[in-house]
Amino acid sequence: MLDLASPSNFPLINPEIVSEEGAVVAEEGCLSVPDFTEKVKRAARVKVRAKDRAGKTFELEADGLMAKALQHEIDHLNGTLFIDRLSPIKKSIFRRKLKKALAETA
Ligand SMILES: [Zn+2]
Repeated sequence: MLDLASPSNFPLINPEIVSEEGAVVAEEGCLSVPDFTEKVKRAARVKVRAKDRAGKTFELEADGLMAKALQHEIDHLNGTLFIDRLSPIKKSIFRRKLKKALAETA
């Protein structure tokens, strides 16, 4: 099990989610999408496989905020933003807000 208090366990190199359990819906935001937050459904618990600085493969299990952060950040590595995980209706609300914000800065 990963000791989250130890910075020597980071970074996680080429992390991938190998299993997930449960579901939880919680508010998310992202520095890549300023001034917009929305509820996103994520797995409640994940197991992640990654390499450490020495190139050794290890696995860690996480729940709560850490599980949410791992899923969010691993999504980034795969080119996915949390807005890509929203329902079509919520996505259209986001597009409208973005359009309005862009019009105000133009
Ligand atoms: Zn982000």
